[in-house]
Amino acid sequence: MFVRGTDGSAWSKAWSLVPTVTLHLKILTAPTSFTVDQMVEGMRTVYATRGIGVAVGSRENLDLPLLTDLDVGSCTMGSVTTEQTQLFGNRNNVGTNQVAVYFIRSTNPPSNGCAAFPAGRPSCVVTSAASQWTLGHEVGHVLGLNHVDPTDRLMMGGGTWNITNPPPDLIDSERATMDNSPLTPSI
Ligand SMILES: [Zn+2]
Repeated sequence: MFVRGTDGSAWSKAWSLVPTVTLHLKILTAPTSFTVDQMVEGMRTVYATRGIGVAVGSRENLDLPLLTDLDVGSCTMGSVTTEQTQLFGNRNNVGTNQVAVYFIRSTNPPSNGCAAFPAGRPSCVVTSAASQWTLGHEVGHVLGLNHVDPTDRLMMGGGTWNITNPPPDLIDSERATMDNSPLTPSI
């Protein structure tokens, strides 16, 4: 940005760099209640309140009918099923420290999404049943956030359909965790 001051001198200020997570959207089954774009917009709205950027690096449809109803087991961070490993092997365009998001029909057992991923392959799944806040919630887990109790927070553990007083909140300590993640380089 360049501004000419009232004294005639020119001065400049560099745009500050914004910690930004880059998503690669991989669609096996389109969600039903909200579009993928609406979910990205919902995520951007919440993340922007804490100065975290959300970029879409690529988008592709995947024809993987055997994986669109995905076994996720207990959905525990760091532990994945054979099907999750197979799905997360589809990483066209996904650069180092970028996140692959797979839009699938359902998980077994049923959920809005799951953010357990194998080491070195940051990923999450979002199901057809997801709310507009599920994408941001699952990526929040990928960035290191855990569940919390207050129902007006993005990371509330009771299901994002039950979030109260939307848009949901991120707090300062969550912002610090997200900022510290290698998945949010400043760009
Ligand atoms: Zn969660």
